[in-house]
Amino acid sequence: MIYEPKNLPVRLYGDEFLRKKLPELELNTPGLQEFIQDFIYTMYARDGVGLAANQVGSLYRMIVIDPDRENKWDKKNPIVMINPVIESRESEVVYEEGCISLPEIFADISRSKRITYSYTDLQGNRQTESAEGLKAVIIQHECDHLDGILFIDHLGTISRLKIMHKLKKLQARAVDGQNILEGFNL
Ligand SMILES: [Zn+2]
Repeated sequence: MIYEPKNLPVRLYGDEFLRKKLPELELNTPGLQEFIQDFIYTMYARDGVGLAANQVGSLYRMIVIDPDRENKWDKKNPIVMINPVIESRESEVVYEEGCISLPEIFADISRSKRITYSYTDLQGNRQTESAEGLKAVIIQHECDHLDGILFIDHLGTISRLKIMHKLKKLQARAVDGQNILEGFNL
């Protein structure tokens, strides 16, 4: 039987899951294979180039990225990384970043330009690779999520003040530490 993936509800700014530091994930965790299909499906449904598991209310230490995808008609090439670790960093680059968990908020963020990183792939093998530019930025953004860090945490006081009203509006949606985006639109 073919598994029908689900669009998982996304956690927005103000949700406790976004501030959790996720524990190491065991590849033989029951239900993991179905979750991975839902996880990838959700990234594309939200038109994202990356997603971390706590953004969909999971404690799995896992990200998915698709940095080659420039528009929604491009061929999909998702890369799932389990227990990713950034091993080394070099130089600096600034990109305008956004986040599925912080809709309508964008800001220039300084990151490492080149990184070497390792992760466990879906076959259970540990991989070590290097990336630069946008791919490196996406990996850093998503790995931050796994430690409870959001891109806005890298902003200085003045840049943060500029988006404060949007953050407060998002935070105000939260109920008992949960801020869940249902359906496709805010
Ligand atoms: Zn994000």
